[in-house]
Amino acid sequence: MCSTPSIGDHLDHVAVVGGTHGNELSGVYLVKHWLQDPSELQRATFTATPFLANPKATKHCMRYVSQDLNRSFTRTFLTFKGTQAGPYEVRRAQEINQLFGPRGTADAFDFIFDLHNTTSNMMACLISDSEENIFTMHMCHYIQKHTEGPCPIYLYGCPGQENFALMSVAKNGLGLELGPQPHGVLRADVLSHVRALLAHGLDFIDLFNQGTSLPAFDIVAYKIIEPVDFPRSPGGELLGFVHPQLQDKDFLPLKPGDPIFQLFSGEEIFYEGDTTIYPAFINEAAYYEKGTAFFKMKKCTFSIPPLEAPTASAP
Ligand SMILES: [Zn+2]
Repeated sequence: MCSTPSIGDHLDHVAVVGGTHGNELSGVYLVKHWLQDPSELQRATFTATPFLANPKATKHCMRYVSQDLNRSFTRTFLTFKGTQAGPYEVRRAQEINQLFGPRGTADAFDFIFDLHNTTSNMMACLISDSEENIFTMHMCHYIQKHTEGPCPIYLYGCPGQENFALMSVAKNGLGLELGPQPHGVLRADVLSHVRALLAHGLDFIDLFNQGTSLPAFDIVAYKIIEPVDFPRSPGGELLGFVHPQLQDKDFLPLKPGDPIFQLFSGEEIFYEGDTTIYPAFINEAAYYEKGTAFFKMKKCTFSIPPLEAPTASAP
């Protein structure tokens, strides 16, 4: 998990990362643009650093070359020796951990924004590890208040599970997961949306750095329960696909007995759980190989405590 946010500290070191997945083009092209002209990333109290995370995959417009970079930040991979022979993304994860971490140390960057796209109808999804990440939850609240349309909060951390994501090398982080957009494609509406969300996030850090304290609030967020795979043959071949009534219904209630899959034979498969869940990442292209047709999510309301402004400005 991310280390507990160092509330009370001025945030000086902020990175904006694109191309963690090389075929998610909003972040890829925005970061390429900001590397030429970073003025959009400047605020009164800091300037964020743009960074292209997986240049090799980006060059080939692929999600990754050897393995998923955004699953390569586990302790095992970060301490993996024999780097010459290791998979490209493992070496890259170690480089990124040196640049923006090392994770869990005082030298680590204060905040990383990681820009992603999804083929799922996730809208302007805000991704964090846990509701215990108070600073990020305040940022999500701020972004929601300043954005038209839904910005659901997706919490991916599971108790006891080690954090594997790129943004975990910093002290705090937020993933911006915009969709639906096909991988390898730029859409104007999605591009402008991610830009606006990021601007609000940068504004929030600036506001905090300038000494603004924020009150407590209650907020709705969705917490991961478990992935659900497609219906498959014993050999792993797909036997069906996401049911048309479930397609594009990310973060909407799915009740026991609702259809979730349709087999090629025409037969329907129904959700057999005993409680209403809220699916997310429905029919994400990159998750076919991970055995995930969608994630079951729990809708929760959290009481987030106040956020005190930095006690002393440390420019
Ligand atoms: Zn991604």
